[in-house]
Amino acid sequence: MDSEDFKNPIILPSHHQVVERLIMTEHKKNSHAGLQMLLNILREHYWILNARKTVRSVLSKFVICLRHTKRNVTTPSASLPENRIKDVAVFEIIGFDLAGPLHLKGGSKAWICIYTCAVFRAVHLELLSSLTTEAFLQSFRRFIARRGRPSIVYCDNGSNFIGAPNYLKSVNWTEIAQFSSIRRINGFSILLLPPGGVVSGKD
Ligand SMILES: [Zn+2]
Repeated sequence: MDSEDFKNPIILPSHHQVVERLIMTEHKKNSHAGLQMLLNILREHYWILNARKTVRSVLSKFVICLRHTKRNVTTPSASLPENRIKDVAVFEIIGFDLAGPLHLKGGSKAWICIYTCAVFRAVHLELLSSLTTEAFLQSFRRFIARRGRPSIVYCDNGSNFIGAPNYLKSVNWTEIAQFSSIRRINGFSILLLPPGGVVSGKD
C-alpha cells in the first residue's frame, strides 16, 4: 500500500531556499545519496517541480561531495628510457638489488642478489652468504659466467630492502672495478640511482 504522502505529495517550487535546504538535508541524511536515489527518497513525500533539474543543480553546488565524485588527475606515463628499449643481448643492461635477509636453520642469514635484465625483464638470482664486498664480487662473477658480461649495470644505492642499505654502503666499488675481469676486457659502467628516487630499471 502506498502511503498517503506518496499518493498526495506536497507540491514544492523548484527555486526556493527551503526546497534547496530540504534537498541538502535529505542528501546528507542518506549518506550523500546520488541523484536518482535522492529523487526517489524525495518523491516519497514531496513533488518538486522540475525535480531532476532542481536536485542536480543543488548537488552541483555542494563542493565537498563534488570533490569525492571527481576523477583523479592522471598524467600519461613517460616513454621508457633508451636503456630499456635498446636492441641488445639478454642481460646486457642489468640492474641488481638485494632481498633478505633470509634466516636459515642454525641462526645464520643469507641474502638473495637479484639481477634483472632491463630490456627483456629476465631475472637471475644468486645466493649471498654475507654482506661483504667479496661475497658480492663472487656472486657477480657467477652471474657473468652464466649470463655473459653486462655493459651497463644499474644499482639503486640501497633502501628498498632490509639489509641492502648497509650492504651497498660497505661495497667498495673501486675494488670491484679493479678485480673484475670484465673491466680488463671492455669495461662497464655502474650507474648509481638516488635512494628513494624513481627507478628506471624496475616496474
Ligand atoms: Zn554529498
